[in-house]
Amino acid sequence: MLNYLCKHCHQSMAYIDYNRSPYCSQNPCQRARVQAEILEHKTKVNQVIQQSVELFRHSQQPTENDENHPSTPINAILPYNDKALVELPEDRKEAFIAHLRRVYQSVCEQKPNAEATYVAELKPADDELTSTMLGKACGTCKGACCGLGETHAFQDYWSLRRYVSAFEKMPTEKTVINDYRKYLPSHSYQAACVFQGEMGCALPSDMRATTCRNYKCDGLINYENTLRDAGTNLTHAAGTRGRTVLHISVFDETSTQIIPIAKPALS
Ligand code: SF4
Ligand code: SF4
Ligand SMILES: [Zn+2]
Repeated sequence: MLNYLCKHCHQSMAYIDYNRSPYCSQNPCQRARVQAEILEHKTKVNQVIQQSVELFRHSQQPTENDENHPSTPINAILPYNDKALVELPEDRKEAFIAHLRRVYQSVCEQKPNAEATYVAELKPADDELTSTMLGKACGTCKGACCGLGETHAFQDYWSLRRYVSAFEKMPTEKTVINDYRKYLPSHSYQAACVFQGEMGCALPSDMRATTCRNYKCDGLINYENTLRDAGTNLTHAAGTRGRTVLHISVFDETSTQIIPIAKPALS
């Protein structure tokens, strides 16, 4: 009789359980299952990137840029925003203005906890090259994390206090509201942050919330870590949703190219 063994702890499993998943229900084995799935996902995405870039290169004349990059590129696996771009409705704009008004009041009254706060401390800015490379990675992803910005755009006491502190004296509510209102785009991504326009965040960086300025998703952190130790900036980046690659771009600090996907769906 066949013996069905857990792939992690090698203990015997009932056929019906093994057939559902070859990892038993113990916590370390479930963690091992998740790790194995992550690795499998990464391997498949890397295969799609490689096939797509190779197909594209074969269809093109070699460029000077190819010769400048004899080294192995870095792969970045990122999320992807595939929401529809729609007209930004007036009620969403007004919901943001009402939120900003409340936050402004809390700053005037020095009441940090009067409204929800997200994060107080602004992390040090990245150096220029890192910032360029990470910006290109986020451009590949098209701002999946901004989907969480809704009608608050993460504006909180600490963010607005930082913004108004650059003025010689406290600006009026009207000034602050006009400052932000003029950046609300005509079109934004459906059910995402009101400031997430077609070209990314419509706010200048010094007006963005502290959360927005600090935030790096896991994919971006992995990419940044790899970039730090790599001998090249040449990056093959994939925007993914679940197990599907939806966008591929190849970039370095000076150029960016969008590559057709050779095999859009992963099995
Ligand atoms: S931080 Fe991550 S999710 Fe947000 S835009 Fe950059 S790559 Fe996309
Ligand atoms: S303010 Fe800009 S960076 Fe922040 S969530 Fe909205 S679109 Fe994204
Ligand atoms: Zn097990």
